[in-house]
Amino acid sequence: MVSELQRAPLRGRLRFDESAAKHTAWRIGGPIARFYEPANEGDLLRFLQILPSTDVVVWTGAGCNLLVRDGGFPGTVIAPRRAFDQIELVSESAVCAGAGVRLPKLARFCAQQRLNGAQVFANWPHTVGGALQMCVSRDRQSLWPLVESVVTLDRYGERRSLSMSDLRQRGFPPNEWLIAAQFRFADAPAEPRRARSATNVGHGPVFRAAQGREVHELIRQAGLEGIRSGGIELAADDSNYVHVKKDACVGDLERLIVRVQETVRERLGVRLERQVQLVGRRQ
Ligand SMILES: Cc1cc2nc3c(=O)[nH]c(=O)nc-3n(C[C@H](O)[C@H](O)[C@H](O)COP(=O)(O)OP(=O)(O)OC[C@H]3O[C@@H](n4cnc5c(N)ncnc54)[C@H](O)[C@@H]3O)c2cc1C
Repeated sequence: MVSELQRAPLRGRLRFDESAAKHTAWRIGGPIARFYEPANEGDLLRFLQILPSTDVVVWTGAGCNLLVRDGGFPGTVIAPRRAFDQIELVSESAVCAGAGVRLPKLARFCAQQRLNGAQVFANWPHTVGGALQMCVSRDRQSLWPLVESVVTLDRYGERRSLSMSDLRQRGFPPNEWLIAAQFRFADAPAEPRRARSATNVGHGPVFRAAQGREVHELIRQAGLEGIRSGGIELAADDSNYVHVKKDACVGDLERLIVRVQETVRERLGVRLERQVQLVGRRQ
């Protein structure tokens, strides 16, 4: 398959055994067998036609939430940031944004168009695709009121237009990904609002909120504040975030997650679920 892909007339960037550390906000992670950044949709369709149907395909956005374990990911990772990075005003208050568009860019575009409602995105580093996937799969409702419809693409090249309520009902089936979303904003400009990012670390939180309780409070009550595993350390100002040192690896993060989960369960009887998504093999 490698030589077939190398010979194919693909315009995007295709890399083999690419370090995931270069493509996540965490700056850690093992090798990805195939990493593809298509130049446009046609290019992506050609690529998908060549890939064997058994190959596991994962899409990545800004990599705030998705990590590749240190032993590597034997499948294909697709980054839509070049192929799907357009933003378009489709009516007075509706904006269509590609899956690879970063939310701060969407916020700036809306501010230029004097549209209100996107200010909250200004400090979130996520992409439209990653943020919506997380909202739908984790039932987080923060984006739903703003999204009218989405366009998805599946492994066989079929495009689907779905209303947000359709998407919420069916979720993202395996091998179907978001390529664009249409947002509806109000047209009165408002004061810019800064989103909270506890530590300004760039990557996302480690755990999901549990039974309505703040994760950093649970970690503090369990006496785990500031603990460290190898190159990963819980942040002092919000323990649901970590500092990632230069020598850190994904294994350090996994060990820290297990230690926090076990201790919080033993001492407080609360099950903390991991927010971070991990793919690939352990070393
Ligand atoms: C400062 C900060 C605060 C946050 N706060 C919260 C919070 O309070 N609660 C919470 O739940 N989360 C929170 N998050 C996590 C956030 O929801 C995710 O990090 C974000 O949505 C991921 O976006 P991304 O572009 O980095 O996607 P990635 O991390 O690259 O991917 C996330 C998931 O989306 C999938 N994906 C990516 N692109 C597509 C696509 N085009 N189509 C289909 N699937 C795709 C990936 O395969 C992966 O499963 C926070 C993150 C940050 C940085």
